[in-house]
Order: sequence, then C-alpha cells, then structure tokens
Amino acid sequence: GKIILGDQLMERSVIGIDLEDRGYQFGDGVYEVIRVYEGKLFTMKEHIGRLYQSAKKIKITIPLAPEQMMDLVEKLVAENKVYDGSVYMQVTRGAAPRTHMFPTPESKTKPVFTAYTNEVARPGNLMKHGVKAVTAEDIRWLRCDIKSLNLLPNVLAKQEAAEAGCYEAILHRSGTVTEGSSSNVYIVNRGEVRTHPANHFILNGITRQELQKLCIENSIPFVERAFTLEDLFQADEVFITSTTSEIMPIVEIDGKTVGNGTPGQMVRMLQTLFEQRIIAESKA
Ligand code: PMP
Repeated sequence: GKIILGDQLMERSVIGIDLEDRGYQFGDGVYEVIRVYEGKLFTMKEHIGRLYQSAKKIKITIPLAPEQMMDLVEKLVAENKVYDGSVYMQVTRGAAPRTHMFPTPESKTKPVFTAYTNEVARPGNLMKHGVKAVTAEDIRWLRCDIKSLNLLPNVLAKQEAAEAGCYEAILHRSGTVTEGSSSNVYIVNRGEVRTHPANHFILNGITRQELQKLCIENSIPFVERAFTLEDLFQADEVFITSTTSEIMPIVEIDGKTVGNGTPGQMVRMLQTLFEQRIIAESKA
C-alpha cells in the first residue's frame, strides 16, 4: 500500500527513516490515530487539530498546512481503499546528529511527517459483552495532555493487563483514577456519567469530546470531576472510550465484578447514540 512521507504519497517499500530521527531515538514527536468507517474518516478535523496542538506544545512546527494534511490523508485512505480501518500519523522533530537539545535552525533539520493506513474491524463483540480491566499506578509524566510518542509507561501498563488476560489497565495516581493506558475512563452512578477533568493528567480524547457532546444533546449529566479507586469499584457502571475501542463497557476490574457483570443501561444507550453519530457522519 501507499504511505505519506512529508507532503507526498509513496510506496511503503521505498521509504527509509534516518537512524538518527529524533522520534526513533528520543520519542521526540507526536502522533494521532484516526478511525475510518466505511471508507470515511471519522472526526478527522478534530484529530488533525489535536496533532497540531500536541506539536505546538513541544515546539515542533509542522511543515504542512492543516488543510494540506487533511487532503493528503483523504487521498491516502482512498488510494489504499480502506473500508473499516485507521490512519496512523506522526510528526517527529526530524533527523539530526544525536544530542538532547533541539537541532539549531542553521542545521536546517525539518520535522518528519509520516502516515499509513490499516484495516481494523470494529470491536462489535467486545462492545456487546464488555471487557475486563486491571488497575495500575499511573507512573507517567505530568503532561499527559500531549499525545507524545513516549509511550513506555502506557506499554508497560497494557502489558500488565494483557498478562492478566485483560483488555485495559485503568491508571491511578495514589488512588485517583486518571485514564486508561490508551483510553479515557468513566463511571456511572444514578444516571450520571463522571470522568477526570481534561487537564495535564489525561489526554482529552476525541471520543471523550464526542461523548460529552452526545451527553449534553441528550440531557445526560456529564460531570468532569476526578474519582477514586473506591468510587471505581462501587460504581453502577464503568466504561472506557477511545478511537479504536469506541465505547467499551468494563465488566470486571481486578477480578471483581462491576455492577451485575454485564454492560449497563447507560453504556448501551451511549453506544446507540454513538452509532448514530457514526452513521450520520459516514453519510455526510
Ligand atoms: N488516553 C490515552 C492515554 C490514549 O492513548 C488514548 C487513545 N489514543 C485516549 C485517551 C483516547 O483518545 P481518543 O478518543 O482520541 O482516541
């Protein structure tokens, strides 16, 4: 298939990444994943907007206008005939002799933008029955609002979950739940949806923002207030959201059943509303 390097579509087999690319050596870059449903990019503008914001926060200037990037990504999806899948895109600070400080302007180092596509089925069965999670200490840095390439703590947490036969690791800072290793986390009590505020402790998920809009449109209380592990274990319902997991019920945490062990009424309603959003956008 085709990929994007810089401002061009090309064959995946012909590209080479420099050994001293700062993304490769320092994780010095940012990324995004955008979902494709039936050949159409879902919430592309929001994802590309966040990519530019993340880049700005680490002082990378993307050498491409957002409109140009959107055009390129749309072309890539069409060219590769992606049906249900995703686009992975990243920007690194570029290739330069290895030293921690930024390359000087004189070195003419240019940020490297790359993107490729994948075919990925929607997790229909998991969304219907729910998945298990473990809890883990959130050992990340204090700028989790940046979608940076540095994912080692997330990788370690997800691996712990996988080794326990679970789908996700729910992270907490000394007992305060932040988010999942690659998702946002919510509890539901008496018809109210509650999640951690969108500050530097979490990534403000695009799915989280869509969910927030859906809740407001449907008069469902959406409360941005941190909760504890104790709240998590006592909640009526628990679910996570992300671009690839959509709205995913959590039915067991650390071996303990959530509610009655099946996806609750609220999460099922939110899934229905989200499905309508997907259908509406793929027809737009
Ligand atoms: N938090 C983290 C740490 C993530 O990695 C992700 C998914 N990339 C999310 C939240 C969910 O974000 P989104 O809904 O934009 O996929």
